[in-house]
Amino acid sequence: MSRVLIVGAGLTGSLCACLLRRELQNKVQIVVWDKARGTGGRMSTSRPPDGASHSADLGAQYVTATPTYGQSHHRFYSELLSAGVLQPIQCLIQGLRHKDGDQDYVTPLGMGSLVKHFLSEAAGADLFLEHHVTALYRRGASWEVQNLAGGRETFDAVVLTMPVPQILQLKGDLTNFLSAQQKQHLDMVQYSSRFALALFFPPDAVFSFSWGASYVRDSSIICYIAADNRKRSADPAGLGPSLVVHTSVPFGLEHLEQDKEDVQPIILQELYRLLPDLPQPRSVKCQKWRYSQVLTSVPDCPGHMTIVDQPPLICGGDAFSHSNFDGCVESALSVLSALKRVLEVQQST
Ligand SMILES: Cc1cc2nc3c(=O)[nH]c(=O)nc-3n(C[C@H](O)[C@H](O)[C@H](O)COP(=O)(O)OP(=O)(O)OC[C@H]3O[C@@H](n4cnc5c(N)ncnc54)[C@H](O)[C@@H]3O)c2cc1C
Repeated sequence: MSRVLIVGAGLTGSLCACLLRRELQNKVQIVVWDKARGTGGRMSTSRPPDGASHSADLGAQYVTATPTYGQSHHRFYSELLSAGVLQPIQCLIQGLRHKDGDQDYVTPLGMGSLVKHFLSEAAGADLFLEHHVTALYRRGASWEVQNLAGGRETFDAVVLTMPVPQILQLKGDLTNFLSAQQKQHLDMVQYSSRFALALFFPPDAVFSFSWGASYVRDSSIICYIAADNRKRSADPAGLGPSLVVHTSVPFGLEHLEQDKEDVQPIILQELYRLLPDLPQPRSVKCQKWRYSQVLTSVPDCPGHMTIVDQPPLICGGDAFSHSNFDGCVESALSVLSALKRVLEVQQST
C-alpha cells in the first residue's frame, strides 16, 4: 500500500483525496495536511464568534458552470446537486455579467460544504489540521516531510496544492529538483490580492435592498457585496443575517502589507457610504487574501506539474488550470491521472 500525502485541504486537495480513494481504493493510504485550523482554503465558510448569526463565505461565492464544463464535469455537478450541496441560484445578483448558457449554483450550507463533501467521500483518509509543511527531503524511495511543529513523516508520494508562492517557499530538496523551465513557469504565476469582510448581524436586523449580491461599480474600494444568507437561499430560524464584502484588487494591492485591523475601518466606512441604511453588526471578521484569484497561471500546464516522477512529487491547484470550481476539478483530475500512473509503476516493482 502506498502512503500518499496531500498538502492542502482546499477544493483541489480534497477532490484529489476523494478521487484517489475512489480510483485506487485500498491500494493507498491517504493523509491530508493543512496549515489552517479548518478545511476549505479559499472556499471556506466562517462562523461568527458567538455562533448566533448566519455563517459567511469569505472567499469563493458561487459556482458558474459554462456549457462546456457543465457537460465535461457533469458527474461532479450531478453528485453535488443530488447531495444537496449545490443548488441553482435563486436570488438576483445585480451587475453579474453573464454569458449565454452559463448556469450559476450556490451552496446552501456555504462554500466550505463543497470541500467537506469531497473530504467525507475520501473514506478513511487521515486529515490533520494545523499541520504546516515547511520542508521536503528525498530519502531514497520516499519523501520526508517536515512541519512547523517539528514533526517529520515519510510518504511514498506527495501532492502539493497550495498557491505557487507557498510551494516555492518550501525548504529542502524541492527547488533542487525543479528544471530551469519549471522554475521559470512557476515564477510567472501571479495572483490578485484583496480583503474580505464578513459582518454578522442580530436576528432582528433588516436589509433595505432587494438583491442577494451586487457587483459595485461606483467605488474604488469595494467591488462586491453579498447578503450571504439570501445569496444561498438559506435562512435558518433565529439566526441573524450576514453580509460579505470584497474589496477591489487595486485596493487590495495598495494595502497588502498593512495589518487587516488597520484596513477594516476603511472598508467599513466605504460600506456605510454605499449602504447608509445598513444596521450595526454584532461582529465583523476581516480576511486578507494575499493569494486570491490566479491572474497568470502556469503556462502549458495540463492541470498539474510533476517535479519528481519517483518517488512522486506533484503540484496541483488552481494555478495549474484556472481559478474557480471547474479549474480545481480539472487540476484534481489531472493530478489523479499522473499519480495513478506512477503509483501503479511503484506498486508493480
Ligand atoms: C475572494 C475570492 C473570491 C472567489 N470567488 C470565486 C467564486 O465565486 N467562484 C469560484 O468558483 N471560485 C472563486 N474563487 C477562487 C476559488 O476559491 C479558488 O480557485 C479555489 O478555492 C482554489 O482551491 P485550491 O484547493 O486550489 O487552493 P486553496 O483553496 O488555496 O487551498 C490550499 C490549501 O493549502 C493550505 N496550505 C498552504 N500552505 C500550506 C503549507 N505550507 N502546509 C500545509 N497547508 C498549506 C491552505 O491553508 C489551503 O487550505 C475565489 C477566491 C477568492 C479568494
